Amino acid sequence: MNQLTLSTSSLLADGSRRLSQSLQSPHTYLDNRVTKSHRDTKRMRSQAARERLQTKRHLAALAVEIHAPELADKLRRCHSRLSVLTCGRHIAQIIPNYTCEFRLCPDCGRRRSRKLQNKYLPMMRAFLRHHHVTPVHLVLTQTHKKETRKQSVKRIKDAFTKLQRRLFWKEFFKGGTWSLEFTKGKNGLHHTHLHIVGFRRKFFDIGLLRDEWLAVTGDSHVLNLKPIQDIAAGLREVVKYVSKPLDIRRFGAADLKEFIGLKNMRMFGTFGEFRDFCKSFVPSDNDGDEVSELESLNRDLTEGCACPKCAAPLFDLRLSSDELLRFYEQIESSPPGKVRTSSH
Ligand SMILES: [Zn+2]
Ligand SMILES: [Zn+2]
Repeated sequence: MNQLTLSTSSLLADGSRRLSQSLQSPHTYLDNRVTKSHRDTKRMRSQAARERLQTKRHLAALAVEIHAPELADKLRRCHSRLSVLTCGRHIAQIIPNYTCEFRLCPDCGRRRSRKLQNKYLPMMRAFLRHHHVTPVHLVLTQTHKKETRKQSVKRIKDAFTKLQRRLFWKEFFKGGTWSLEFTKGKNGLHHTHLHIVGFRRKFFDIGLLRDEWLAVTGDSHVLNLKPIQDIAAGLREVVKYVSKPLDIRRFGAADLKEFIGLKNMRMFGTFGEFRDFCKSFVPSDNDGDEVSELESLNRDLTEGCACPKCAAPLFDLRLSSDELLRFYEQIESSPPGKVRTSSH
């Protein structure tokens, strides 16, 4: 299934069935990052939670290695105790005891990317209502060179700035958002990509865009472009790199040190006419709805309220991060409508 066409509401409507389907599909790893970013990346929540936990433990260990005990401590404390509002079958809200706000922390990144979605989705919808444009997901890549992460990021951002000044770009694009993804190849070289939600004015031959990208980079024509069917899913697809900018598995102590040095690097931004539109945007009452998943950040729910999904009363569970993981597994292994107390 194409993730770009998957809407939040349909995911919620038959989440359990879809989750069991995604369990059966083989999870093949493709080293081509462009392909990877477009393939079906829907995963079980428990699996995602487990990966976040592993990432944080790995980062904390690296922090110890580079003699940054305060960072290690913050990472260990972050989301370690959680107040979970649940009906037993659905999780309506998760409130962590503490958030470290470290840029590579997957839990804090997830919150950040939700905030971005909550902020930009209403603007994108309004922009689409006002303009005759088609949203597309464009991935721009560059050749891999021996350089620092900082140099790699600067190189791709500079190329994108040049691209935006070209007549071709102005003719076919009416602005959008960009986010940065960076990782490291097996050969140790930095791979930096720009993920763009672009508002395309009209159709063009992809070959022309490749030529334009080659003209501004000097050596790269590799890019990928796909129309976005559902703007919410399209935005979610690109902001996930704000929460998960790199592949932590290949991340070592030296990388962490280098990353801490890149203090003010922007990971997300808007450009072109969409940027101006955002500046003057005033949301109407119904613009902010229907955004996020069930575990919304700012839903005013308390114990005893009705579960937003099944209307059963909610109760509060105090869990550790490991216990939350087991709770996810328990929910996922229960058939829709039934709650089980054991895992299988
Ligand atoms: Zn954190
Ligand atoms: Zn429920």
